Amino acid sequence: MTAFDLQTVRRELHQIPELGFKEEKTQRYLLEKIREMATDRVDIKTWRTGILVHVSGTNPSKRIGFRTDIDGLPILEDTGFDFSSTHPGKMHACGHDFHMTIALAALSRLIAQPVKDNVLFIFQPAEEGPGGAKPMIESKEFLDWKPDTIFALHIAPNLSVGKVSSKPGLLFANTSELFIDFKGLGGHAAYPHLTKDMTVAASNFVVQLQQIVSRGLNPLDGSVITIGKMESGFVQNAIAETARLEGTIRTTEASSILLVKEKLEKLIKGFEIAYDCEINVDYGSNYYQVVNDGKYVELFQESLAGSDIEYVQASAAMTGEDFGDMLKVIPGFMFWLGVDSPYGLHHAKLAPNEAALSVGAEAVERFIRSFD
Ligand SMILES: [Zn+2]
Ligand SMILES: [Zn+2]
Repeated sequence: MTAFDLQTVRRELHQIPELGFKEEKTQRYLLEKIREMATDRVDIKTWRTGILVHVSGTNPSKRIGFRTDIDGLPILEDTGFDFSSTHPGKMHACGHDFHMTIALAALSRLIAQPVKDNVLFIFQPAEEGPGGAKPMIESKEFLDWKPDTIFALHIAPNLSVGKVSSKPGLLFANTSELFIDFKGLGGHAAYPHLTKDMTVAASNFVVQLQQIVSRGLNPLDGSVITIGKMESGFVQNAIAETARLEGTIRTTEASSILLVKEKLEKLIKGFEIAYDCEINVDYGSNYYQVVNDGKYVELFQESLAGSDIEYVQASAAMTGEDFGDMLKVIPGFMFWLGVDSPYGLHHAKLAPNEAALSVGAEAVERFIRSFD
């Protein structure tokens, strides 16, 4: 397939966002495009709603993997685009439509003009949750084609088009979701002494929780606990029998997240005694830190020499990415692709500049060809 219109593909994908492990239309769309461009050098496998595409090299000594995520978010789109999501309440608000389009573009170029080494394109489901990277790399389908090195990109709304950015070492944090349920004894608002008030218990818990980071962890290791949502009770004149806190834990050290959980569970035990209630915690999705191998970041930087793409040194961020689970077992790196959007990731008005599509495809292709 030569006439690959990136903008059209991106817009078609943008209209069909689907949540983790439900990417059926997306998978069908991608398979159709991949089969259109496939030659006898190309082998295709599916894994759940994901896809693996293997392009055999001309004289391979290793296998290079490029991963794109394929899922959308449960966000109601508010961009006003005429190619807005046709799935109500769902949106490609994290740029995974960009990532997929870039992967297809790079794939078509690699098929048209193969490189020496084998290349594996990984279309991974469920990055936003519950996490597709870990089960995918443990699958037989993946292990049969396990790459020797692996890389991925993510759009960066605050970076201008034409720029890419990365760094050796830590790029993204260790993350864990956090859901805490309180169960006490409700009753009349005028008789607090006959109840176990879960609004008060949960409120105090939120305040105490902050001391885990400030008093329990090494101040030189970065950590954050955020409670983003708090719910309790149902009416103004009754004492709340239940409460729920929803939040996230993020740390720059893999060991710190375990320590946070250990201290959190001790705090829960104390609260159960002090407030005479039952508290349950659920950690939801957990992503391992994204740590770039400096060697490959350097090779990536070198591969851009002679192009118009500008490399900028990144700083580590407390964001999370399940690509960390892949980098834990396969050396490689992740980079930011500048898309210059006035609204950030996960925003209902995210509007990445489509001029970045060809920049991304070129950066991916250049890195793969640099091993020739
Ligand atoms: Zn996201
Ligand atoms: Zn994302």
